[in-house]
Amino acid sequence: MQVTKGLQRWISASKSAVGMKILRYLPLLLLFALLTAADKPFVSENDHLTMAVLYHQQAPEYAALCYQTYNLATARMQQTVRKKGSAERLAVVMDLDETVLDNSPYEAKCITDNIRYPAQWKEWCMLAKAEAIPGAVEFILQAQKLGVQVIYISNRKEEFREATKNNLQSLGIPVAKDEDLLLRIKENEKESRRKEIAARYEVILLIGDNLNDFSDIFETARGEDRKNRIHDQKKSFGEKYIILPNAIYGDWEQALYTEPKMTPEQQRAARYRGLKRF
Ligand SMILES: [Mg+2]
Repeated sequence: MQVTKGLQRWISASKSAVGMKILRYLPLLLLFALLTAADKPFVSENDHLTMAVLYHQQAPEYAALCYQTYNLATARMQQTVRKKGSAERLAVVMDLDETVLDNSPYEAKCITDNIRYPAQWKEWCMLAKAEAIPGAVEFILQAQKLGVQVIYISNRKEEFREATKNNLQSLGIPVAKDEDLLLRIKENEKESRRKEIAARYEVILLIGDNLNDFSDIFETARGEDRKNRIHDQKKSFGEKYIILPNAIYGDWEQALYTEPKMTPEQQRAARYRGLKRF
């Protein structure tokens, strides 16, 4: 209102014909500005995640894929135990996020609140409310029934240990010993933790949603090289390596961002560059 009055005073002082026209149409101009602002769609920096999160949360095909994966894992585990005659010293190594725990509500919040990891990741973990990835709980219970040790390797921070244990307990799959839950110490790499487990057990299956959950040969590779290494290892998938789909995030996405610390706009351009089109 102050602005309008000021403008009115300036116009009457200047007695400008153009000014009088502006004043006459001012209410209309203001209304137009208000309407176009209200009509403008909300666009989050993380809008590109929407379809991937919806696929995880809404597509029965995603749940079917997870069941299929865990059915295969169960069959492989039963086969191995049968072949060896006992489950003594046998272990399966599992990742947690997007392998056992479904963090898609956190990703959904990143879209709606326009925030990026790690913002509010701590809050989400501390809630200990992640639901289970379809098939994960049944698989873990089956392993326990057979006497196969389940060990988790996760890059969640040590400060989330209690919350993570509470979350797993609420899903009916409590962690009996702290040594069965290996969290991130300093680095993201998982090979040293895998070696630690291999000293105690014979690892019959590795289950995860990221290639880094299986072998260090993927951890060090970048770009095309990372893709090519899959072909060399193709016989291991469905055998020792069991992979779950994760279309929301992962090192596959990071591989698209060729420079460190790219802005959201640069990342968007990099995603477009990654598209294969005709
Ligand atoms: Mg994961």
